[in-house]
Amino acid sequence: MSGGDMAKPLLGHRSMEGDPSIMPTTGRTIGVLGSGDFARSLAIRLVCSGFKVVVGSRNPKRKAGLFPSAAEVTFQAEAVKKTDVIFVAVFREHYSTLCDLADVLAGKILVDVSNNTEINHHKESNAEYLASLFPACTVVKGFNVVSAWTLQSGARDGNKQVLICSNNQEAKHTVAEIAQVMGFTPVDMGCMSSACEIENIPLRLLPAWKIPIFLALGLFLCFFTYNLVRQVIHPYIREQKNKFYKIPVEVVNTTLPCVAYVMLSLVYLPGVLAACSQLYYGTKYRRFPDWLDQWLQHRKQIGLLSFFCAALHAVYSLCLPMRRSHRYQLIETAVKQAVEKKMNIWVEEEVWRMEIYISVGIIALGLLSLLAITSLPSIANSLNWREFSFIQSTLGFIALVISTLHTLTYGWSRAFDENQYKFYLPPTYTLTLLVPCTVILAKVIFSLPCIQQRLLRIRRGWEKGRYVKFVLPSATGEYSSGETSSNV
Ligand code: NAP
Repeated sequence: MSGGDMAKPLLGHRSMEGDPSIMPTTGRTIGVLGSGDFARSLAIRLVCSGFKVVVGSRNPKRKAGLFPSAAEVTFQAEAVKKTDVIFVAVFREHYSTLCDLADVLAGKILVDVSNNTEINHHKESNAEYLASLFPACTVVKGFNVVSAWTLQSGARDGNKQVLICSNNQEAKHTVAEIAQVMGFTPVDMGCMSSACEIENIPLRLLPAWKIPIFLALGLFLCFFTYNLVRQVIHPYIREQKNKFYKIPVEVVNTTLPCVAYVMLSLVYLPGVLAACSQLYYGTKYRRFPDWLDQWLQHRKQIGLLSFFCAALHAVYSLCLPMRRSHRYQLIETAVKQAVEKKMNIWVEEEVWRMEIYISVGIIALGLLSLLAITSLPSIANSLNWREFSFIQSTLGFIALVISTLHTLTYGWSRAFDENQYKFYLPPTYTLTLLVPCTVILAKVIFSLPCIQQRLLRIRRGWEKGRYVKFVLPSATGEYSSGETSSNV
């Protein structure tokens, strides 16, 4: 895997945390328009953070009891007069009802916290719409990615980032300062044109997970069908044996490790392809094709899904002896052996195979758990680059090798047993070995000194066919420089 491949995701926008120009000031009065869930949570958090809060409601008498006593609840116009930063905690559809306040709002900062119900619901973002209704105000988009619950429970229990954008730098800094005092991490998303993107964020359903989930489901479906044909349909057609009871546990349990194993190899395959591309073109500055770029970006999710399937496989396997069918089969076998007067049923090879198979499987699952834990942002952030790369890259590859041993000890000599080829279909484990073994072989080839050196040079900026300045130590130990073609 290329050194930069496992780079932790970089935040595309500038975090404003620690910005020296943001000087937290409490004691300032902040206005909130609206008295709903979000307004209430916002008021509580603002009060707890040391701000004076004035809430503007259409019906202050009725709503006052819902707010902390430190917050003043008054009519909208009154509230607006008392402050120059106002959070508009009102739905977009009701913005126009605030137009009567246009005069008192003039020159003030309006913070648009609204969300939509659908992605790209309106042509212009809510914040741009608010700005068009109140041209004499400065509108800042922010806080919409934080839920009312997170606001109430404090930034510790939820997403800490508050994405902020505005066309006015000063206003943006004022809102960023408030967010920081409230315990959030303000992130500068640039000018108002980013508002639409910010408003779409809370509506996205696991965007980074779509491709990995479809991939996992696709693999599951393929392996499940394959196993179903081999384990259930084949005995039914060929021997008229009813093995349909195997579907819920046994077939699923033979499918899950196949998915986990192949998915784990798919985490490392794009790194191999990236390295091949770099070796072929002799440069790291050539863009990878889009599909490879996408694949590289989804490795974390693919790895986590692999861990999920492996964990399910472990639980299913532990439950296998609990099944009634298993008990009946055990008793049946015991009775048969008693009838045949067989005293010694111990098969040394089978005993060893099983011991190694289970032990190696447990180690593989342990390593996968480690990979999963260290991919969590809070843990990943506490590791330096070398530690992160060692765990995700080196230990991850070791996990793949150990999983291969687990698969091989499971299969043992079945690949060479004619009876295992149901409808001429090879045992499932032989199919699952294809991609992981390719990855392992490629990694071994890349570790050969001649190839490793070339890859390292490419990753340090060397390019095929380009003249580069070089520095050579002379016989006296001094360095002399010159120019050569790096291709030579
Ligand atoms: P809500 O509970 O329905 O409150 C909306 C408030 O708007 C009402 O309490 C009302 O207060 C006020 N309002 C002003 N003019 C109004 C009118 N003409 N008709 C009806 N109400 C009017 O909604 P919410 O959950 O607090 O959400 C408020 C805003 O925050 C929305 O834009 C939402 O997208 C955004 N937001 C909410 C959350 C969340 O977790 N709830 C998270 C992020 C963003 P008065 O009756 O006192 O005037």
